Order: sequence, then structure tokens, then C-alpha cells
Amino acid sequence: MAAGKKAEYEKSKLYRVRHSAAHVMAQAVTEMFPAGEAKVAIGPPIEDGFYYDFDLPRALTPEDLEKIEKRMREIIRSDYAFERRVLSADEARKIFKDQDYKLELIDGLEKGGLDEYGEPIEEKPEISIYTQDSFVDLCRGPHVERTSEINPDAIKLLNVAGAYWHGDENLPMLQRIYGTAWMTADELEQYLWRLEEARKRDHRKLGRELDLYSINEQVGAGLILWHPKGGMVRKIAEDYLRDEHERGGYEFVYSPHIGKASLWETSGHLDWYAENMYAPLEIDGQQYYLKPMNCPFHVHIFKSRTRSYRDLPLRYAEWGTVYRYERSGVLHGLMRVRGFTQDDAHLFCRPDQMPEEIDRVLQFSLDVLRAFGFEDFQAYLSTRNPDKAAGSPEQWEAPTEALRQALERAKVPYQVDEGEATFYGPKIDLKLCDSLGREWQLTTIQFDFTLPERFDLAYVGEDGEEHRPYMIHRALVGSMERFMGVLIEHYAGALPVWLSPVQAILIPIADRHIGYADEVAEELRSAGYRVEVDSRSERMNAKIRDAQLQKIPYMLVVGDREAEAHEVAVRLRSEEDLGAMSIEDLMSSIQDDIQAGV
Ligand SMILES: [Zn+2]
Ligand SMILES: [Zn+2]
Repeated sequence: MAAGKKAEYEKSKLYRVRHSAAHVMAQAVTEMFPAGEAKVAIGPPIEDGFYYDFDLPRALTPEDLEKIEKRMREIIRSDYAFERRVLSADEARKIFKDQDYKLELIDGLEKGGLDEYGEPIEEKPEISIYTQDSFVDLCRGPHVERTSEINPDAIKLLNVAGAYWHGDENLPMLQRIYGTAWMTADELEQYLWRLEEARKRDHRKLGRELDLYSINEQVGAGLILWHPKGGMVRKIAEDYLRDEHERGGYEFVYSPHIGKASLWETSGHLDWYAENMYAPLEIDGQQYYLKPMNCPFHVHIFKSRTRSYRDLPLRYAEWGTVYRYERSGVLHGLMRVRGFTQDDAHLFCRPDQMPEEIDRVLQFSLDVLRAFGFEDFQAYLSTRNPDKAAGSPEQWEAPTEALRQALERAKVPYQVDEGEATFYGPKIDLKLCDSLGREWQLTTIQFDFTLPERFDLAYVGEDGEEHRPYMIHRALVGSMERFMGVLIEHYAGALPVWLSPVQAILIPIADRHIGYADEVAEELRSAGYRVEVDSRSERMNAKIRDAQLQKIPYMLVVGDREAEAHEVAVRLRSEEDLGAMSIEDLMSSIQDDIQAGV
């Protein structure tokens, strides 16, 4: 969730309802066990609901969840008040004497610097508890006034998952119950539908079923193996992107996967990005690091010769594979990985060229994303954080204004995240909404004050003097891996015809029709289409079903009649039956679909 939206959510009634539902759930769970045997950890509201972590004498079953849910409704209907009390750490320790996790949290609160969820905070917090009925929780709130403000028909417990205390693999594994709560039963129902739909579209499930990619334990977690079909989709997407970049005035560069420690010292990565970088390797007594970013290499290409004001702008693009450390617990299919390919570019320009460059790059990003079938965008403009920012407030003004005006001109809805910029410059994050209304952050346009300084970049101006160029980092789809995941989920695996790894499949009715099927396949292939022949000795209906499951756009059934007339009987993956048509008509129909982006 974006910072602004999150702040708004935290002030909402729904947030208090969900937080209160978490407490009610914790009461119901603790009641199931003899006093003191159920240990409670933390239970915050989250984006679409809430959870609570428990340390219990036994594993919870689906039947338990039903029971807990039923008991929650009783507690809600009993209309208990949520009562808040401020107390000293010692008093709190007495109340939670059997609750080891709470005792640890109380220590954190007393020392300051941690809130009741163990998250770092600035101030030293007041210690407070909330009580409803017989249940007491260490909690800063806020809550609704009474349990009856939770709608008993709009809550649902979803599942139990393992979760480490403090997310740390070396600490005890707890049982986390996820639940959701809404204001109305209708909203709950819609949410459950979206969940179900998201499950069906899960790129990890579809990736396996459509044979697109895999992750192999022996290769390593978070490292992607692209199979031929997934590789084909990626190739088509990359070919398209490269062509567009060439048309858009970008030049292609290539850089190595490792660089010397001194490079990453100069760039600052070893200072502020080290926790995402892998341990160095040693070559000839020198330390080298796997690259987490491509920027320093592109900077050196810029620096490799004297640049004149006439050479600018320069736009260097690279499909650069970078490696970043992610904790094993957060790895997720194609979405969170340890090695990925960025469609990266760095723009170097004169200050006077900067507004136009930003306009161009924003428009370029939108055009390309639209070509992939995305229509809804939401932009976030992050501005200077006075506490940590390279460059003076005056230096930030022009780039921030240029970013803002580019958003205005492109007519993209945007929100300003005041003070949310990283220290090196203002940026635009462009998120897109997929077919389920989920937001995905893909494009970043990031202004940078620091690298031109650190690497002492210069160009010779009209006045014959050396000047510092402006530098903009830009990734359009961000990570090719993640973008593939978003595409798969957005289209539920039924990729548009131009992106489909197999566009048409010939289905011979009997073995004697294989010859004709091969002939048609050859004809289509030589016209540039991606075609397969299903020559297995399965029944026709089984072949059609399999092709449907593979989400192949055109199924071309051929039997005696079709062979005689040099035609194919066309069925679509939508189950629509187009009947028999000539090969020429089929090709023009495929062309129409490609043009329409379906
Ligand atoms: Zn609480
Ligand atoms: Zn960069």
C-alpha cells in the first residue's frame, strides 16, 4: 500500500473494526485451551483484514477455524466494550506473567524504540492495554467502542500459516490465523470472490500448468528457470520492448555481472545498499561484487570520453540481470526473486533538456504499458525528505516540478507522497491496476543528484566550461520476471495472441489426417505464426480440452472434409466455434485479433 493510502486506511473505521476483530479472535482462540496454555504474540490489522500469531499446544485444524469463527460471532453479539487503560511496565508484566511474547514486547516498549508489534518507532510509547470481556491485550489501539460494531456477517477466517516470531527463522515458529472483516456482508462476499479469482490466476500455478518456468531447489531459491514456452513469451515481449526503445532514441549497452569493490564504494552502494548485496568473491586479491544495479557501469560508459553539450541527451538501455538478497521468507514465484532482469535505462541530459526528457520517458512508459493491455494507472510522486536528502532544497525544485508537470500533461492520476523520496532525488512510481483491480508497481522514473557527483560526471558546455549533467534512472516494466508474473495473472494465462507462445494448434481427428495437419502447420509457420500439431492418438475431445487448458488461442480441427476442401474448423479458447474456413481467412482473422490486442 502506498504511504498516503496507508495513512488514510489507518484512520478509517474499517481499520479499527479489523483490529478489534483480531482481539475477538484471540479471545476465542485462548478460550479453547486451559488457562495459560495458549500464548499470544501479535495481531495487527493488515491490508484486507487482520491476523494474529499464536503459540499453541497443538496444530489448528480447519474445524478449529469454524469453531473459532462461531465463538467470535457470539462475542461480537454480546456487545462487550473495548476498555483502554494506561499502566506501568511492571503492572503490565504482572498481567501478562504467563505470556512470554508479551513480556518481551513490554521490555521493548519500556526501553523505547519498538512498538507493541516489535516494529521500530521513534518515540518512547505509553504502555496501554485493551480489555473486552475476559481478554486483555497489550495494545496501543485504536479500537471500536464495542464488539457489536463489528458486523458478525462480514467476518471470515481464511487460513492458518506458519510464521516465525519477529519473522526470524532462528526463533519459534508460530501459528498465524488470517481473517478478514468488512463493513457489510456484500463487501465480504466480493472480497472472497476476488480471493478465489486471484487463486485461479496465481502465476505460480499457471506457470506450472502452462510449462512457462520453474524454480528448482538444487539451483536455489528465488532463481528462475525459463522453460521454452515462458522463454518464448519473454522473447516476444523483449523484442517488442527493444524495438520500441530503438524507435524512442535509446542506445543499447551491455555490462558485466560483477564489478570491483571500489566501484560500489564510489557509487555508494556499499554504504547504503550492502544488505541487499551478496558476499564478495575474490579475484587476484581484489574483491568483486555481483551487481545489484546497472547504474555505475552506465556511468562509466558516459565517462569513457569527453562529452559535449551537443551529445546530450544520451539514453543508455540495457536488459541487465541483477542480483539482490531477499530473505527466503519473502520470496514469491516470479514476483520476489533473488536474480532478475531489469529493463533498465539511464538518461544523461543538460538541465535545460530535463523537462522534455521526463515528458518523453513518462509518455514512452505509458505507451508501452498500454500495448501490453494495461489501461488503468496510478502515479506517485515522491518529494524531498528534509531529514535525508542529497542536494539543497533549491536543487530539488526544478526536477520535482518537471516530474509533476509531466504527470499533469500525461493526464495520469497521481498522488504526492511528501517527503517519501530516497535521499538521492525525487521520483515517479507508476503503478498499474490489473483486471482484478490490484495495483502493481512497475515503472520508476528516478532523478539522481548523487551519482553525477560521486563519479564527477561532466560535459563541455557551449561556454567551453565543464558542467554537471542531470541523470535519470528509469526502469519501465522493472523486472522482466515480475512483469511476466503480472501478465500471467492479468490475463489468467490466456495471453493475447501476439504474446501467446503457441498461437494455434492443429487437431487431426484421426491418424490419417496428420499429414494434412502437418501441411497446414507448415503453411502457417512460413507465414510467421507459432503453430503445433497434436499428433497424439487421443480422442479429438481430449485434445480440444487439453488445448483449452493450455489457453491456446486457435484450435484447428481437421478431418476428411477439411482436408478435401483445404480448410480448417476453427474453435477459440473462449469455446466459441467459428466453423470451417480457408487458411487465408484464418490468417486474416488472426491478424485482426493481433491488431485488436486480444
Ligand atoms: Zn491490539
Ligand atoms: Zn540506475
